[in-house]
Amino acid sequence: MGSFVNSSRNGGGGGAVVDKGVDFAQYFCTYGFLYHQKEMLCDRVRMDAYFNAIFVNKQHFTGKVVLDVGTGSGILAIWSAQAGARKVYAVEATKMAEHARALVKANNLQDVVEVIEGSIEDITLPEKVDVIISEWMGYFLLRESMFDSVICARDRWLKPTGVMYPSHARIWVAPIRSGVGEHKMGDYQSTMDDWCDFVDETKTYYGVDMSVLSKPFAEEQKKYYLQTSLWNNLHPNQVIGSTAILKEIDCLTATVNDILEVRADICSSITLENTRFCGYGGWFDVHFRGRKEDPAQQEIELTTAPSVDNGTHWGQQVFLLHPPIRVSEGDNLSVSFSMNRSNENHRLMEVDFSCEIQPVSGKLIPRFSNKFYIE
Ligand code: SAH
Repeated sequence: MGSFVNSSRNGGGGGAVVDKGVDFAQYFCTYGFLYHQKEMLCDRVRMDAYFNAIFVNKQHFTGKVVLDVGTGSGILAIWSAQAGARKVYAVEATKMAEHARALVKANNLQDVVEVIEGSIEDITLPEKVDVIISEWMGYFLLRESMFDSVICARDRWLKPTGVMYPSHARIWVAPIRSGVGEHKMGDYQSTMDDWCDFVDETKTYYGVDMSVLSKPFAEEQKKYYLQTSLWNNLHPNQVIGSTAILKEIDCLTATVNDILEVRADICSSITLENTRFCGYGGWFDVHFRGRKEDPAQQEIELTTAPSVDNGTHWGQQVFLLHPPIRVSEGDNLSVSFSMNRSNENHRLMEVDFSCEIQPVSGKLIPRFSNKFYIE
């Protein structure tokens, strides 16, 4: 997951009620390409985590009925079968289902794995399942809103004693330093310089004054260059303060309502001497723990935290401040966070940060707010 490319800058889309045709054109279309499936299949951290989760905890699979929500290439369904599942229902909304079916057959698992092409919301299964496995995580965990579909599957098809793979998820944030902000500001400024030349020339050569559009153009470009979160592979030494959890999700019990909006008040203290607070870095992790009454033999973690050599295709999301703020070791950030779905496209997110800085020495920096778009 995390490879869905938003085709328009502004999200576009069909209003609050999800239009299936629009959703297919905007969201599902990318998953129909082997190219995108391969990107996920090449993410070693992701692959190792799911592989280990399944094969280290074979007892959850042997002789059991498994549902793979969004099977894509079929990889998780195939592993579940190889771990001894009695039956695996592998549901995929896109035409990738045909490739998954071919892969299952080529690996001689067609008697165990049944690939079903359709939305998990629409299909019916002949029985309830012991395990739901899915790789539903988007950038910053919740982008793509695919967990809704996993919840729907769980509520319809998981036995009361069933197990979720993964079983838990968390969203993390930390203050960071980065040089990217200056580049983005430079890009924004040169775009605005170019606009000024354009306004002058249009007036001179064509006799029309465009300057009334300068403000909306600036707003549009500001949103694009300065307020859109960035994909980044942060080095751990770019994290300049303590990390904090924004959200914890128990996949067995969470409801759509629980994830529609994420709100948190957190504190972070700066851990570096005299540095620049350039923005916030956000990431997630998920865990495979089984369930309380039926725990995993060994808990497996999949983390997308900043790392020197274990980067994932999810990287981290970076939310930049313009300009950065000087901070020093021991300074305290008190941050209020909220994340909601975009009105135009329920799979994209809008994020608000507000922050007050209590420095160890010197004057308090009063609360300031920043809005961002995860596109
Ligand atoms: N399980 C695969 C693919 C993960 S990507 C792997 O781990 O490699 C997520 C997949 O879920 C995509 O192929 C997407 O098309 C599919 N998907 C997303 N929402 C779905 C839904 N509601 N019903 C069926 N498939 C869905």
